[in-house]
Amino acid sequence: MSRDAAASPALPSGPAAQDPQARRDCPLCEQPGGIEVWRSPWMRLIRADEALHPATWRLVWRRHVAEFSDLSRLERVACCDALALVEEQLREQLRPRKLNLAALGNLVPHLHWHLIARWEWDAHWPQAVWAARQRQPDAQRLQALAQRLPDIDQRLRQALQQRFDPQITLE
Ligand SMILES: [Zn+2]
Repeated sequence: MSRDAAASPALPSGPAAQDPQARRDCPLCEQPGGIEVWRSPWMRLIRADEALHPATWRLVWRRHVAEFSDLSRLERVACCDALALVEEQLREQLRPRKLNLAALGNLVPHLHWHLIARWEWDAHWPQAVWAARQRQPDAQRLQALAQRLPDIDQRLRQALQQRFDPQITLE
């Protein structure tokens, strides 16, 4: 498919199919990047497959932009609002010791935010999840946490749909 076709108003066939700047060498343009929890015309929430930190979600911007300041003012407001909503839900449902919010993108320069629930028992606490491991993984706690996540996904989807779908559309 040509880039012109990808930019047409036809329904998207992939995560970034509507974006004329979508890149074939970008994993977040080509693939969901995890279990898709929710999507809107502007952004999607996925739950990442992270063995040591299963309570990890990513808010991925649909358009291929590298930096937060590439967004319009309205997009920035919507992005921040979605982040705060997901953070609130995760705090309420999971009661983590800390909620880490990070946008790095050094390896994948397509705007995405990491939302990671953290506990004192996790393998990297109190360091960032990308730092050196501090202790052995707690398999029992990880398994118990992982079992709760599909239900959390459902609650996140409902909250995001309620907040955004009636208000923000591109078409
Ligand atoms: Zn991309």
